[in-house]
Amino acid sequence: MKAPKIKIKKQYLSKYQNGYPLLAPEWIQSLPEGLKEGDLVDVSSPDGKFIAKGYYGKQNKGLGWIFSAEREGKLDGSFFQRVMNQALTLRKSLFDDELTTAFRLFNGEGDGLGGITVDYYDGFLLIQWYSLGIYRYKKAFLKVLSTLSFVKGIYEKKRFETSEETSDFIWGKEAPAPLLIKENGITYATYLNDGWMTGIFLDQREVRKRIMDEYALSKRVLNTFSYTGAFSVAALYGGAAHTTSVDVAKRSLAKTTEQLEVNGMDPASQAIVVEDVFHYFKYAKRKGLQFDLVISDPPSFARTKKITFRASKDYPELLRDLIEITALNGVIVASTNYAGFSLTKFAQQVKEAFKGTKRSYKIRETFQLPTDFATLQSFPEGNYLKVLFLELDV
Ligand code: SAH
Repeated sequence: MKAPKIKIKKQYLSKYQNGYPLLAPEWIQSLPEGLKEGDLVDVSSPDGKFIAKGYYGKQNKGLGWIFSAEREGKLDGSFFQRVMNQALTLRKSLFDDELTTAFRLFNGEGDGLGGITVDYYDGFLLIQWYSLGIYRYKKAFLKVLSTLSFVKGIYEKKRFETSEETSDFIWGKEAPAPLLIKENGITYATYLNDGWMTGIFLDQREVRKRIMDEYALSKRVLNTFSYTGAFSVAALYGGAAHTTSVDVAKRSLAKTTEQLEVNGMDPASQAIVVEDVFHYFKYAKRKGLQFDLVISDPPSFARTKKITFRASKDYPELLRDLIEITALNGVIVASTNYAGFSLTKFAQQVKEAFKGTKRSYKIRETFQLPTDFATLQSFPEGNYLKVLFLELDV
């Protein structure tokens, strides 16, 4: 099928020939006129030679995604069925795992189609659309999802600009609120129809498990940027002596209380602090508080009344604060989802942070995205999660 051509600059052709999936604005030589969201395009060389099939859909990362090496490639029911079948096969062990009932079912370009993700929450699905372009294919995509035998209900979040106000609930039965899911035996309360976030970040599953299994026993734990306290709950399962969860958002008190309660834990026995972490550091230093396990999972960018935090430049400073309140031989779990850092760059930031302190450290373990957050070798920036377990004073 003939489609409008998006021509790639000569020096970037080899990237695309090697499977790079994103239509990156700065690598495009020319766009055809009158392109509309969702239009299929032939990605080609400057002299018009066909390389791959893509669709046009503007989102924060780029102008669309490549989904096929075939000139005849189409975004239709049979394509969606095929990529979904592959995605299901890849996650067989998660479906079989009775201790885990929530994970990513379809991860955009890593599963063959960028701009869309689907998460599985105990029989309910949550679709996230990242452009109007891909949203145009909703009907055919939904048809494939709704025929999967295990699906009870479907929700969506539109992560592109739209004035259309519609409900997140779009098909089947509504999920209870909270919807209790399990992850490695831990219960988490989630909400599929309550703003942008559900109560849990599924990409940290392995990190939570590692904390529970290896790092928490008898430890005084500080969980900064704690959101609903998921790391604190995992640490308590692992036998932590005490947890302190700190988050500036008012909701975090009720949310963290709930996560503890659904696991039969007493919230009153733990500290849940609603405060800017940078204030909390001052208080902790003044009081001489020390923690054995410190978790740091800030957003890439956050602005509170007084402080703006940018992971791109402020991470070393954040770590220096954390180092001061980490006990001798303690462990810091340093995490970031900032896409601008490679793992190497993030490790350099850590090194930088320790300079000028009297403490030494070793990287004990490194985590990136788990396999259900499938990524492509040709697109390493898709593996946005970087988590370093730092053991101090070794
Ligand atoms: N670590 C969490 C997810 C963190 S999401 C988890 O695994 O579930 C980022 C959180 O940082 C949000 O809840 C936000 O309210 C909080 N936050 C942003 N800036 C902050 C600040 N300066 N101090 C404390 N919390 C902050």
